[in-house]
Amino acid sequence: MIATINPATGETIKTFESASSSELAERIARASERFREYRHTSFEQRANWLRAAADLLDAEVDDVARLMTIEMGKTLASAKAEVGKCAKGMRYYADHAEGFLADEPADAEAVGAVKAYATYQPLGVVLAVMPWNFPLWQVVRFAAPALMAGNVGLLKHASNVPQTALYLEDVLSRGGFPDGCFQTLLISSSQVEAVLRDPRVAAATLTGSEPAGRSVAAICGDEVKHTVLELGGSDPFVVMPSADLDRAAEIAVTARVQNNGQSCIAAKRFIVHADVYDAFAERFVARMRDLRVGDPFDSDTDVGPLATEQGRTDVEKLVEDAVSRGATVLCGGQRPDGPGWFYPPTVITDITEDMPIYQEEVFGPVASLYRVGDIEEAVAVANATSFGLGSNAWTSDPEEQRRFITELAAGQVFINGMVVSFPELPFGGIRRSGYGRELSAHGIREFCNLKTVWVGA
Ligand code: NAP
Repeated sequence: MIATINPATGETIKTFESASSSELAERIARASERFREYRHTSFEQRANWLRAAADLLDAEVDDVARLMTIEMGKTLASAKAEVGKCAKGMRYYADHAEGFLADEPADAEAVGAVKAYATYQPLGVVLAVMPWNFPLWQVVRFAAPALMAGNVGLLKHASNVPQTALYLEDVLSRGGFPDGCFQTLLISSSQVEAVLRDPRVAAATLTGSEPAGRSVAAICGDEVKHTVLELGGSDPFVVMPSADLDRAAEIAVTARVQNNGQSCIAAKRFIVHADVYDAFAERFVARMRDLRVGDPFDSDTDVGPLATEQGRTDVEKLVEDAVSRGATVLCGGQRPDGPGWFYPPTVITDITEDMPIYQEEVFGPVASLYRVGDIEEAVAVANATSFGLGSNAWTSDPEEQRRFITELAAGQVFINGMVVSFPELPFGGIRRSGYGRELSAHGIREFCNLKTVWVGA
């Protein structure tokens, strides 16, 4: 069902019909036709439209943030911050796209040419399949570079954020992008295959779970179409004896409960050296216990509800299963009574390898705490899941920093800080966390044809 359901109350606010196959075909045709002209627009023109859309986001921040909070439960403060981040990301690509996609000259003489270079050209219609957790930012970090590169976009957003999805099409259109440059498709995941197999669709990007990624990649593999996959993660947060423990504990809490615990790059496993384990655990648990859970519109709330009922059930099951096998809950662990899909900040320890929580991603405010004897064990535990998205390590020892940078199996490593996405830095994972990169120069080049040009006399 495509619907806005308020996670703080469970109330269904608005439902939507999914697009019919003829409507879908009409929208793909519109995108494909638009691409023929749009690819010839100048960087300056595209940048002006994108900056105008960024200005609209800034002007409409209160309304958009409210919509996001109603649809998926993030606190209003974090929703507003997300809107600001999107405006910044749009301006970043408006400023830098042309430089990122400048022709790359080659040694013409060496290849017997008068002129030889590589040039970036847009691929065409790109489908973006997106998740609800950062309903605006996940889309903007695809759309801003894709549009600046001269591609056109189709969005299949998560079924629980239809109004945010429609807003995105609207705000880009009001920014000035011509009709068909960026369209929201209100479709179910079962309709995605038809879009991917359409010959007018050139490529796809998916941010979401592993099963969804596998399905999209399999279809695109069959069609020989380029994909970028940004999938789940179970990021480690390693604390070594030389770390500033107060700061590490403070950031650990933010890294775990940001977005009500539903971030792919949230730190999920806290791996602490035995020498500082007790001191860190005491600080960390005290801070987690002090967090205020409640109405996401209330400015005193730290943690709102989980976005879906199923999401809360999944989190609850992982915790209950671990406890039944001998794990210890240090705080939280019990859902509150009452309406809404709330789950308390929870810290759990005495986790063993046979527990699903050891391997799986916990998409809610639950921290797993591990005690390790040395850096070898820390790296081994950190790398023990099939994921490889982000990683955090806290140490002031330069040799330990070097080892974590080299040895952590992840697309990103942050030393003495938490993993954050910045337009200026590439973002992506390895292993089951996916492949390809978003953001920075690398992100905009993903959906380009790097065409080799050789010109003879
Ligand atoms: P999800 O169930 O995979 O949904 C993501 C998107 O994929 C939604 O639009 C969904 O549509 C669609 N979808 C689901 N199954 C599909 C299929 N078989 N074929 C085509 N499309 C399909 O994931 P989620 O629960 O919304 O999001 C949480 C997951 O996303 C977590 O694992 C999180 O770590 C990951 N994530 C990763 C990143 C990253 O950058 N690496 C960022 C954010 C989130 P419907 O809603 O209609 O099912």
